[in-house]
Amino acid sequence: MVPGARLVVLGKQGAGKGTQCVRLSHHYVVPHVSTGDMLRAAVKQGTPLGMKARDIMDSGELLSDDLIMEMIAERLGERDVRDRGFILDGCPRTVHQAEALADILAPLDLDLVIDIEIQTGQVLRRLAARRVCADCGANYSVSSPPLINWTCDVCGGEVVQREDDKVEAIERRLQLYEVQTAPLIEWYEVRGQLARVAGTGSPDAVTRRIIKVIEDRRYKQTGMR
Ligand code: AMP
Repeated sequence: MVPGARLVVLGKQGAGKGTQCVRLSHHYVVPHVSTGDMLRAAVKQGTPLGMKARDIMDSGELLSDDLIMEMIAERLGERDVRDRGFILDGCPRTVHQAEALADILAPLDLDLVIDIEIQTGQVLRRLAARRVCADCGANYSVSSPPLINWTCDVCGGEVVQREDDKVEAIERRLQLYEVQTAPLIEWYEVRGQLARVAGTGSPDAVTRRIIKVIEDRRYKQTGMR
């Protein structure tokens, strides 16, 4: 049986986190838990959480730690996650969220936190070109669009530019990343839980690098490949 995994993936917006998390989720057969996807689903369904989140998300600001951690605690308590683990994408985003996450998981711990490293100039170009399916969240770009007329290849939904991928919101999101999220990298590093992976090159190359650091860590901890 494929062993499960409890992983957090960090990286600036546009570092390729979403793509890599989906691949890791298939590789380790564990749920991909993305706070951004959960919130976008809540906005679409018009739930009370979605109504609170919508404007904050569109402007590129962060939701409150309490709101996010309540949502995540509920998700991490579900059976699929308890049985197999998770690939956590988009959370934690602040040191306070990381502390709350450790409390939620205790007595278990994370296997590893992966930071996908990429330069800001490169993510700005990627984000400006990014397009997503409004229904299923599949990722495209202006240079690799869906086959037919901005209609999603996966589900037939409309492929659009995310409101928060527009220039002003991108700038705000990257600024918040530096102030709030970058300190997390050090926080995990001093706890010996961090692995840095270069986010450059093809998605396949990045996936190979990530899986290698996870397997190396596993080998060190358990002696098993
Ligand atoms: P993402 O798709 O991860 O970039 O998330 C989209 C938006 O959802 C963010 O810009 C925030 O407004 C909100 N969001 C997602 N995750 C979090 C989080 N962990 N803490 C606060 N806000 C979040």
